[in-house]
Amino acid sequence: MGEIRSVAVIGAGVMGASIAAHAANAGVDVLLVDIVKPGAVERNAIACATIERLKKMEPAPLMGSRAARLITAGNIEDDLVAVGRCDWIVEAVVEKLEVKQALYARLDAVRKEGSVVSSNTSTIPLRELTAGMPEGLARDFCITHFFNPPRYMRLLEMVGGEGEAFAPLRGFLDQGMGKTVVSCKDTPGFIANRIGTYWVQCAMVLALEMGLEVEEADAVMGKAMGFPSTGVFGLIDMVGIDLALHVNASLARLLPEGDVFHAMNRHGAVFTQLVAEGFTGNKGKGGFYRSA
Ligand code: NAD
Repeated sequence: MGEIRSVAVIGAGVMGASIAAHAANAGVDVLLVDIVKPGAVERNAIACATIERLKKMEPAPLMGSRAARLITAGNIEDDLVAVGRCDWIVEAVVEKLEVKQALYARLDAVRKEGSVVSSNTSTIPLRELTAGMPEGLARDFCITHFFNPPRYMRLLEMVGGEGEAFAPLRGFLDQGMGKTVVSCKDTPGFIANRIGTYWVQCAMVLALEMGLEVEEADAVMGKAMGFPSTGVFGLIDMVGIDLALHVNASLARLLPEGDVFHAMNRHGAVFTQLVAEGFTGNKGKGGFYRSA
């Protein structure tokens, strides 16, 4: 059976750049691609700078700290054939089903035999991602849901990926990237985002119905509750408000009418408003917390 020696990461955003840097630190060749419009070198430069920063980031990664092998950042239009030569292709593009599916059709045409493909989706069910997918690709496809930041979060949710073809990937995630792989059913939000959404809703209630400042709500819902020091609002800013909006919309669509999610989801419009005003979180001009 083969090994994972090369990884292609598609989407050089919040997650893709970090997954790529972490995989490189685990000692494999990594190709990171995004959409770079003709003449626009800037995005590529940003991706390269992100990778360099992440590779050197202190403290050192908790795991996967073999000498970084090789990482290149490029344009998907130029590098699609090179993507197809990789043992594992991980898709980390925007959380939109139609964008992901269009990409999978292109990957099916170029990927080599024996490779595996996975999505880093937060909430889109495997059955929706694979709907209409060619049989061969569907057989070699699964969800590998990393958590943010991928370098430090040990948990990885896997949906599908149980067959023999995925043994090298599971081995690499575990031994190479140091992840604790948890197999999830194909349920809305899988495990962590399904539970995490209740934290978010509680924080919204504290802030909007009980009149607490964002900082106060984060103090209550943060360290005191064993949550990361960022608290819930700080975490959403790190994740991206645009993504939080997608996650909320996905769960609203996927969960049955009587589910407690709907009763608690009273303030989802806040995400819509912030995104409409251009506040996407730390990757942009701030979100719940504004940069000075
Ligand atoms: P992001 O918006 O930061 O980055 C997405 C990137 O994909 C952008 O750079 C965009 O240019 C690129 N892109 C879009 N369409 C593309 C295409 N057809 N080909 C190549 N590149 C394309 O998004 P993100 O937060 O990194 O999220 C990526 C995925 O990871 C989503 O599915 C999301 O649900 C999931 N995820 C995100 C987090 C998080 O904390 N942000 C955590 C876990 C999972």
